[in-house]
Amino acid sequence: MRATTNGVTSAPTSAATSARLGVMLTELRLPTMKRLVPEVCVQSDRQGWPGQQLVETLLEHEMNEREVRRIERHRIESNLSPDKRLSSFDFAAVPCVSKAQVMALAQGHEWLQRGANILLFGPPGVGKSHLIAGLAHALIDAGRRVLFMRCSELVQRLQAARRDLRLAHELAKLDRFDLLVLDDLSYVRRDQAETSVLFELICERYERKSIAITANTPFSQWGEVFVDAAMTVAAVDRLVHHATILEMNVDSYRRRAAQEAKAPARRAKPATTTGAGT
Ligand code: ADP
Ligand code: MG
Repeated sequence: MRATTNGVTSAPTSAATSARLGVMLTELRLPTMKRLVPEVCVQSDRQGWPGQQLVETLLEHEMNEREVRRIERHRIESNLSPDKRLSSFDFAAVPCVSKAQVMALAQGHEWLQRGANILLFGPPGVGKSHLIAGLAHALIDAGRRVLFMRCSELVQRLQAARRDLRLAHELAKLDRFDLLVLDDLSYVRRDQAETSVLFELICERYERKSIAITANTPFSQWGEVFVDAAMTVAAVDRLVHHATILEMNVDSYRRRAAQEAKAPARRAKPATTTGAGT
């Protein structure tokens, strides 16, 4: 093990050598090491690190950054709005939803292993999409893969795949996601075309891969979404078998926010005297 003393380096790191090293690191797809080699090697020489420490340090940086890049890729492919996080979700506005329960879903992933589902119900504007997107971001932070889609868009995509005889292939592609968020199930309509593809998706993932669904209509109205009553019952049965159901029966957050924006102005007025004379 060669060490250096007092900052005097004996390493013959010629320009030709570093260029070759750079090429090899590019070839091996180690961009972080490539970036850090000059700086870390100087530090290593100066401080007389054993060779093993130098190699470990460089590989550790590469692995850490690789994980960051992987999570970033997962976030981009997820289709999630970047700003809909749990940190910006006001749980006080939905007392019927337990923050502890949502945080437990975000932190423990045993339910994803089991392919369990999440169903969120509530009228428009109560924060269903925001809450499930926030949960999805937290899962991505923890290394999971999520796809967030409007349900009607996914149905269209699967219908097109069925027409081209690639439905099985398309369903298999969705398999790489630990969680599939189908936002706004209620907007899928039977007259869009036949929607048995949605049923096939639900069957395909049953007890294997999780689905989260937001809907502003209760199960009793899901007959609008599936081809017939028997299929509706079969779909609901599979979805609820292992599911966390969150009911968000509050007033629209947007409407309340608008009302509250007006209210302080009204409350402030009586306390102030007018015509102070200017
Ligand atoms: P829904 O999906 O139930 O129709 P959204 O999630 O789209 O409702 O919410 C409507 C808007 O209000 C969004 O901009 C969302 O970020 C915001 N919002 C709703 N509920 C909350 C909440 N509890 N805390 C913070 N923002 C919220
Ligand atoms: Mg929504």
